[in-house]
Amino acid sequence: MTSSISARVLDAATQLGEGAEEVDLKNFTHVELRQLLKEALDEPGFRGDQLFKWLYEKRAETFDQMTNLSKDLRAKLDGAARISPLEFEGAHESGDGTTKLTFKCDGGAVVETVYIPAGERNTLCISSQVGCALGCTFCYTAKMGLKRNLTTAEIVDQVVQARRKMTDANGRIGNIVFMGMGEPLHNVDNVIRAIDILLDGDGLNFSRRKVTVSTSGMVPAIHRLGEETNVQLAISLNATTDETRSQIMPINDRWGLDELMDALRDYPLTNRERITFEYVLIKGVNDTLDDARRIVELTEDIPSKINLIPFNPHPRTPFETPSEETMAAFQQVLVEHNVAVFRRRTRGRDEMAACGQLGKPGDKEPPHVRRKLDKFRNDSVVNA
Ligand code: SAH
Ligand code: SF4
Repeated sequence: MTSSISARVLDAATQLGEGAEEVDLKNFTHVELRQLLKEALDEPGFRGDQLFKWLYEKRAETFDQMTNLSKDLRAKLDGAARISPLEFEGAHESGDGTTKLTFKCDGGAVVETVYIPAGERNTLCISSQVGCALGCTFCYTAKMGLKRNLTTAEIVDQVVQARRKMTDANGRIGNIVFMGMGEPLHNVDNVIRAIDILLDGDGLNFSRRKVTVSTSGMVPAIHRLGEETNVQLAISLNATTDETRSQIMPINDRWGLDELMDALRDYPLTNRERITFEYVLIKGVNDTLDDARRIVELTEDIPSKINLIPFNPHPRTPFETPSEETMAAFQQVLVEHNVAVFRRRTRGRDEMAACGQLGKPGDKEPPHVRRKLDKFRNDSVVNA
């Protein structure tokens, strides 16, 4: 494991050596942690391996527990470094078992993580930002605007803490989805580092097939994700024409459907892997049979599957969920065209833990969201 040392590792090494402010150990990949201990404390590489395993495999909460590190090293780390940046705040369980975990992070911001039980294959939905800048009109998180990016440590610590809290009672967490608060590809450096730790055999040890990044379509970062990782990709499609997509997802003005689909055609997929398209069905906005037919056309040359998600309502939204008949008819068109289509069961609605319900916005949405929403509030189609 010899690679060049980045400036951020060197900075952290200086900080660790001086001990003025605590260094978050979970901000560093396995390779970086070895480098950090070597640079800061002249410890051999295997000490970095040991520390890494304590953080993730054994989920240590204190340096005292790290019994195979020397007392001297533990004393140096204690006070100069920090194991966990998140403080567990509470667990809110919905009637269906879906549990929203909340954590406090530096500066008082709250991070939300959703545990979705499903027998053997429990899923953890993690956040990548506090709030989101992208302003999709149907999304509750958008109304917060972006408060800040989460650090690598804050992203992976959601998984460590959820494993600690949920595993014993409910079985293993088998899947990780970046579908909580925030746009993961708007915080791509930290997300890529977090993925490195998630997949590391001495780290959180997830299979790359069990980790999915969901994006609203940030095209350059999609290319980067494909080059630097090999996890699964989900795209929030949500409309089939540029006109409608731009109305509900402002990012479409920057990268339209043609550009997005081109990027997906280039995305490296291994045998039998597929890109997931998420499609939030919103009454009177994107739920016609023509929309269903256009999904078939848009995706026909991309190995893919479609997840239909009934719109989850939240306070003060002008949007509504389509009727059961409308959604069934929509799905039927896709089935008839041999598209692999799944209807996402709505989970966690009663605790505001479902897709698009995370966050704690104030009463006022940011101006860029309000401008778009006002159009729908005045639009008789949606409220008809
Ligand atoms: N920012 C990323 C990931 C977080 S959003 C993205 O947009 O993909 C996760 C999923 O929730 C997205 O597919 C999004 O389209 C969906 N979503 C947002 N608001 C929703 C709502 N009110 N009801 C149902 N799904 C919603
Ligand atoms: Fe952000 Fe995703 Fe919500 Fe859009 S749907 S505002 S990208 S979190």
